[in-house]
Amino acid sequence: MNPSRNWRKKYFNIMKLKKGDKVEVLMGKYRGKTGKILTVLNDRGMALVEGVNIYKKHQKAKRQGEKGEVVLVPRPLRAANLMLVCSNCGRPTRIGHKFEGDKKIRVCKKCSAAI
Ligand SMILES: [Zn+2]
Repeated sequence: MNPSRNWRKKYFNIMKLKKGDKVEVLMGKYRGKTGKILTVLNDRGMALVEGVNIYKKHQKAKRQGEKGEVVLVPRPLRAANLMLVCSNCGRPTRIGHKFEGDKKIRVCKKCSAAI
């Protein structure tokens, strides 16, 4: 495969998402769910979304006498499967860019409001 195409596939989407963004999940078990981005994993092209993709992890007892427990661990989702929800019009949207002076700002493709 063409390596540059692969690079785009992996990193194209994630650059646009930021911590704190509200996103909708487009694929998988959590399709249609919305949540806030907790962490963006740029190098992996993934993001952790609040309340989405939570797995149960069985943790063994660390010390003697302690009980093992089940902890809920959120797993990152591929950024390509996430879509930003515009805070202005409330719809899932693609992100556009616009320059304001020499500052690059993100805009909603649907209502053109700055995000
Ligand atoms: Zn909008």
